[in-house]
Amino acid sequence: METGNVENAILAKLEQPESPLMQRVTRNNQILLHNYQAEVIKHCQCVLEGCERTFGIVLIPNQILYPKFCGEHRSEFRREFHLQQHPALRQAQGPGVVEKLRTQEKEFSATAL
Ligand SMILES: [Zn+2]
Repeated sequence: METGNVENAILAKLEQPESPLMQRVTRNNQILLHNYQAEVIKHCQCVLEGCERTFGIVLIPNQILYPKFCGEHRSEFRREFHLQQHPALRQAQGPGVVEKLRTQEKEFSATAL
């Protein structure tokens, strides 16, 4: 297991979404718990309110941190701009973005490299 220190720290805080570390990490990232042993592509929808874009992320073994915004909204500035144009969308986006993935053999074969 070559899980990074940051990810170990995150795993230790999974049950405490209000912790400063989790607040900071989940601001721009989502946590995907998975057991894939090979790289797998997962399609995600941008979590920014009003954005319908989907984007692909590559799930990497032993990595749990992944972006939660589409390529267009990775930067804080872009997200702020988006929300300014759609004021009705503005609302708190707390954490609560831990997703546990079911790993299934058939998904492996469909996406194996
Ligand atoms: Zn987006």
